[in-house]
Amino acid sequence: MSETASKASPSTADDKLAIEIKAMHKWYGQFHVLKDINLSVRHGERIVICGPSGSGKSTMIRCINRLEEHQQGHIIVGGIELTDDLKKIDEIRREVGMCFQHFNLFPHLTVLQNCSLAPIWVRKMPKAKAEEVAMKYLERVKIPDQAHKFPGQLSGGQQQRVAIARSLCMSPKVMLFDEPTSALDPEMIKEVLDVMIELAEEGMTMLCVTHEMGFAKTVADRVIFMDEGQIVEENEPGEFFNNPQNDRTKLFLSQIL
Ligand code: ADP
Ligand code: MG
Repeated sequence: MSETASKASPSTADDKLAIEIKAMHKWYGQFHVLKDINLSVRHGERIVICGPSGSGKSTMIRCINRLEEHQQGHIIVGGIELTDDLKKIDEIRREVGMCFQHFNLFPHLTVLQNCSLAPIWVRKMPKAKAEEVAMKYLERVKIPDQAHKFPGQLSGGQQQRVAIARSLCMSPKVMLFDEPTSALDPEMIKEVLDVMIELAEEGMTMLCVTHEMGFAKTVADRVIFMDEGQIVEENEPGEFFNNPQNDRTKLFLSQIL
């Protein structure tokens, strides 16, 4: 499809893009939480989203797998536009993994069961195969020895690595992270960031809300700054950190760096 054709029709997919958000708005009741969000993410691109608390970062990434609904504009993931169509929502959720600040593991299931549940029930994988896949990813996040424990028996850093492994078991094309290290003690932050860095090096398309600016500098292709429901500034990390343009970005960076 030509560039012109894809521009002419806002809901036509561009297959070079993993995610396309166009003129997107969201309200919580009367409150206009996201205002004219435009963002294109290419396959394999790593994007870090930062900004003050309450600026709409979580809401924006939760819209990408329809944990929140947008009211205006377009969100297209892997060529599929998010609408009320439940089949499409399901299709998109299968391709998009998500890790939250509070791991959201099932407390009554073992680590292995947490990881194999969705492949068995959603992908219809035989149990033995799903457990084999789960062990492969638990090895990748360096906790195969914890497979038979329950989440409550693990440290925060280990639980977050389980949450990442659990997402990877579904072979996602895109991973969304919402402050995955914010609830962790400092000594555990690195073990989670190391896993995320490895994922990035393997070419995973990633959108990470994080205030880990070291991570942003080494891993991100682009850094996006949000404030009051808008994308205020975006740039490659070198320019973003050394030469911020917007006053609100400057203020934010001066407070966290
Ligand atoms: P961030 O992740 O950048 O801290 P959020 O996306 O969580 O910001 O929140 C953006 C704004 O929307 C905040 O003002 C927050 O209070 C508000 N908000 C978040 N979730 C809801 C909700 N479910 N209902 C109403 N307001 C909400
Ligand atoms: Mg948030």
